[in-house]
Amino acid sequence: MHTLPKATLALNRLGRGFITEKHVSALKIIRRGLVHAEPEDDFSKNEVYDVIISGGGMVGSAMACSLGMDPNLMGKKILLLEAGNKKVMDKVPEMYSTRVSSISPGSATLLSGIGAWEHITKMRYKPYKRMQVWDACSDALITFDKENLLDEMAYIVENDVAVAALTKQLDSLSDNVRVKYRSRVVKYTWPMPHHAADSVPWVQVTLANGETLQAKLLIGADGPNSMVRQELGIPTVKWNYDQSAVVAVLHLLEPTENNVAWQRFLPTGPIAMLPLSDTLSSLVWSTSHQLAEELLEMDEERFVDAINSAFWNNENQSELIDTAGSLFRGALAAIMPSTGSPRQLPPSVAGVGPKSRVMFPLGMGHASEYIRHRVALIGDAAHRVHPLAGQGANLGFGDVACLTQLLSQAAFNGKDLGAIQHLLEYETERQRHNLPMMAAVDLMKRLYSTNSAPVVLLRTFGLQATNMIPTLKEQIMAFASK
Ligand SMILES: Cc1cc2nc3c(=O)[nH]c(=O)nc-3n(C[C@H](O)[C@H](O)[C@H](O)COP(=O)(O)OP(=O)(O)OC[C@H]3O[C@@H](n4cnc5c(N)ncnc54)[C@H](O)[C@@H]3O)c2cc1C
Repeated sequence: MHTLPKATLALNRLGRGFITEKHVSALKIIRRGLVHAEPEDDFSKNEVYDVIISGGGMVGSAMACSLGMDPNLMGKKILLLEAGNKKVMDKVPEMYSTRVSSISPGSATLLSGIGAWEHITKMRYKPYKRMQVWDACSDALITFDKENLLDEMAYIVENDVAVAALTKQLDSLSDNVRVKYRSRVVKYTWPMPHHAADSVPWVQVTLANGETLQAKLLIGADGPNSMVRQELGIPTVKWNYDQSAVVAVLHLLEPTENNVAWQRFLPTGPIAMLPLSDTLSSLVWSTSHQLAEELLEMDEERFVDAINSAFWNNENQSELIDTAGSLFRGALAAIMPSTGSPRQLPPSVAGVGPKSRVMFPLGMGHASEYIRHRVALIGDAAHRVHPLAGQGANLGFGDVACLTQLLSQAAFNGKDLGAIQHLLEYETERQRHNLPMMAAVDLMKRLYSTNSAPVVLLRTFGLQATNMIPTLKEQIMAFASK
């Protein structure tokens, strides 16, 4: 790690209020020791790629497709490295997978632009038109939907289907993108900011089989425990929540149109039921670690009872809160034309898919820097959120869209893809979107993790008021749809 010059340190101590954004960018460039010309090519030692993406999950695979399809990046050498096996799906398995994601319209547009959405729709996905979120401690609820339920709000896609679709698309891009599966990176060597006699100008990537590759730009898409982020020593704000998520495939009592996503906030954490088909839904139940473990151990009948009870019982409600809530709703109705969408009742659950129950500990993490010289972080490697808003993968797809656009522009202008200037633009643009979203998700988690009366009252009023202001709801939806 290089040392910071005194002047840089002094500037660093100044508040942002004293320096302009331009100065901040200049400062960041100096601080990260990055101002130097693009070095001479050195193909003699090892293979040099223009871009290496480390990690082929949903986000890394989308990044590889997106770069491989960009006309300005034609002819660039792009490599995707994935530690796991190639995930192909010649035939969609009859059994649904437990890991699913709610994909926003913005993400669907990205996936469509890179040719993967067509594969997803041919495999399996379920659009939904409304989302109902309600509080177990009061009558308060909020519904989100597009006008007259004509448009789809979002789509539930199994993670395996998304990765298989991206893999299929990558196969068709094999002239532009090389993919190495079962290739775990075990070491990164970072370029020195200034030429030293024995330094390599590119990022050097060493695989478990001993192979060494070089990249003018390394994109770290290696998930929440990102080795790229850790080896760079990027400061990261992170904590574990006192919750784990239990996921499972649920069999509904009767077939329904099943086009609503349901989420109820219990004091122990939110429980969500996401549509998969007319008869199946996906469970994401975030709760205390202890209850999560118990839920995994329960026999099917008790597990089903626990789910139905979590959606239906009113044991956490109090008369005081209910009265205050209905008075407030009445007052709002008198002054506001909209009464919000009517309350709907969630479907009852009758069974659970065999061996479909799995548990994940939950946490939040945010890298304070998404970039370094010749390196960019995307997806969970840069940010990890609680699943209550179904935003994790969507934020990652947003990173992909933004970084592709900036790299495409850089290539068009004949610039070095690993240069810090456009990487800084990526960091600024994405942090401006990701940070408010992450803060909102974390606040929701905290606000709903209590049944203390003043807090319940406050959130009841807030939720009811928001539900009655269509423009506010539209703004929330627009923000979450990106
Ligand atoms: C219960 C739950 C529900 C969720 N629901 C939603 C939802 O509804 N909507 C939504 O948008 N998001 C949701 N998320 C979040 C979403 O699953 C993640 O944000 C997303 O999977 C992150 O993708 P990624 O590609 O960044 O990381 P990962 O999926 O972690 O992929 C990282 C990849 O990198 C590879 N890798 C790691 N290290 C190396 C190495 N050294 N060398 C080579 N390869 C390596 C791994 O093998 C892996 O394939 C949910 C999360 C949870 C836990």
